Amino acid sequence: MNILAIGAHPDDIEMQCAGTLALYAQQGHKVFMAVATNGNVGSPTYSREEIAAIRHKEQQASCLMIGAELIWMNFDDEWLFNDRPTRERFIDAIRQADPDVMFIHGPTDYHPDHRIAGQVAEDARIPASVRLVETTLPHIKKIPHLFYMDNPVGLEFEPEAYVDISTVFETKRAMLLKHESQDSWMRAVYGEHTSIADMMTQNAALRGSAAGVAYAEGFREVKTYPRTGSFALLPGFGR
Ligand SMILES: [Zn+2]
Repeated sequence: MNILAIGAHPDDIEMQCAGTLALYAQQGHKVFMAVATNGNVGSPTYSREEIAAIRHKEQQASCLMIGAELIWMNFDDEWLFNDRPTRERFIDAIRQADPDVMFIHGPTDYHPDHRIAGQVAEDARIPASVRLVETTLPHIKKIPHLFYMDNPVGLEFEPEAYVDISTVFETKRAMLLKHESQDSWMRAVYGEHTSIADMMTQNAALRGSAAGVAYAEGFREVKTYPRTGSFALLPGFGR
């Protein structure tokens, strides 16, 4: 299968679903990680150009860890909108990945870029399969099965499907830690106690205790027309 995760910023996908992606990659599935914005406001010291270049490199290093292909959309951080250029770029990302399964941000996430990225991805899923919706790539032949990723630290999100990521937890952590520039940024914005690795670990442990394992990631199926798979089962993981 082809698996596509779409995150708003470099590090979002690692935070919410890199364990599941690592498991898919281990099983021989092809994984794509699409990042909508270039993270060009995420620094207390660098210029926008400098931090965008750093974050692109960090994202590439993370993708390399599981052999994922990076789709770098390069929109400005904090200024993502549900407009025609954005939809066309998302349609192309979906066409490039030709996914069986997609992971996207959900509508109750705290960050506007996350919510917009999720909404555009959800809205681009069907037009990606329409021949006369012309972008730079040809239309896909199947409509992917869509899941919302967890929200940061699990707030306002009740998972209905879990993936036990205990065996790949260290891979997920190492992928997240490739986003080294974000640790200082998060501390500068949200306080010295904030570490992205700690936030992720607490979230994975919280979902793990709900699922009866050490570490888990939680998801919700996007229950919209047309239904493309069975609810509560992540394709490839069985019952
Ligand atoms: Zn983000």
